[in-house]
Amino acid sequence: MKINAVHVWQVSLPLNEGSYRWAGGKSVDVFDSTLLAIDTDEGITGWGEVCPLGPVYLPAYAEGVRGGIQKLGPHLLGLDPREHAVLWQVMDDQLKGHPFVKSGLDMAAWDILGKVTGLPVATLLGGITSREIPLYRAISQRPAEEMAANLRSYRDDGYRRFQLKVGGDPDEDIRRIRACRAILEPSDKLVADANTGWLPADAMRVVNAVRDLDVFIEQPCLSYDECLSIRARTTLPFVLDENIDGLEPLLRAAHDRAMDMVNIKLSKLGGLTQARLVRDLCARLGMLMIVEDSWGGDVATAAIAHAAASTPVRNLFAATDFNGYVTHSFADGAPRRMGGTMCLPDGPGLGVTPRRDELGPPAFTIA
Ligand code: MG
Repeated sequence: MKINAVHVWQVSLPLNEGSYRWAGGKSVDVFDSTLLAIDTDEGITGWGEVCPLGPVYLPAYAEGVRGGIQKLGPHLLGLDPREHAVLWQVMDDQLKGHPFVKSGLDMAAWDILGKVTGLPVATLLGGITSREIPLYRAISQRPAEEMAANLRSYRDDGYRRFQLKVGGDPDEDIRRIRACRAILEPSDKLVADANTGWLPADAMRVVNAVRDLDVFIEQPCLSYDECLSIRARTTLPFVLDENIDGLEPLLRAAHDRAMDMVNIKLSKLGGLTQARLVRDLCARLGMLMIVEDSWGGDVATAAIAHAAASTPVRNLFAATDFNGYVTHSFADGAPRRMGGTMCLPDGPGLGVTPRRDELGPPAFTIA
């Protein structure tokens, strides 16, 4: 089996809430997602999607996904998409770094292997531990009272795990965390995600002020060393995200006992092949995990569902239904939220089929 074409579409994904805001005044109104299809000489097509959280979150941006695919695509023609390690090696040889560029191509290759074998990608990633996947809801950064009202409304919708976007003014962040935790039942889970937004002094003020609460602290500061210094001085459970962008930082952080939970984003790591490696290691190390991506629509959400559904149940804190945050659906078979969970799609591969007639002609094709 050989790759004979890569088609790429740009898809705009407006948000249900109008905008999504996090630390440092950063926000996105409409997500710019890249959808791609890998065609093979045997008539099987695989789908992938990459959607950075704007250009100022991780070192990734929407136009960079498409530019990178234009650079890499010609090197993939003629390769067997079922051989993921070979494909990954060629991508790494031809483009240093830029894992977000490779994520969608890797995702499509897994979709193809699933279709060839008649198996869900979750089975290929190690096996389905649960078809029902717990979700968390990210609460966009607003004044404390508004965030508490939004959290209450999403709790009424069935969510039981929440991630507050903090990392702003520390006094307001303390109010945000207290106001939201007060609404929740003891069994509900709350994460305060600063997205690197606090200086260490601010982070210490916040963790000291909320130390009586049941709340996880996620990525308080920009650098790993700053986060480690906060970790050493708090008893609250601790999450690392932006700093864990590959195997080397994970190994160092595991050695330092720097976190209790890791946020595994597919495109941050370079797709399902690399995410599986990090995930399996995290499971063996006894870590909790959030399995998600930087953002995305129906295809990225399906890939998240397969990665999460094959994660050991006791290690999976939650996944994310990004296609439930946006107004635009472009595929059939995508997982849909039901209360606080989503179900693994049926069918082989990713189990999701973009509606090509609605997509229109691709932005470009490499063949
Ligand atoms: Mg995070």
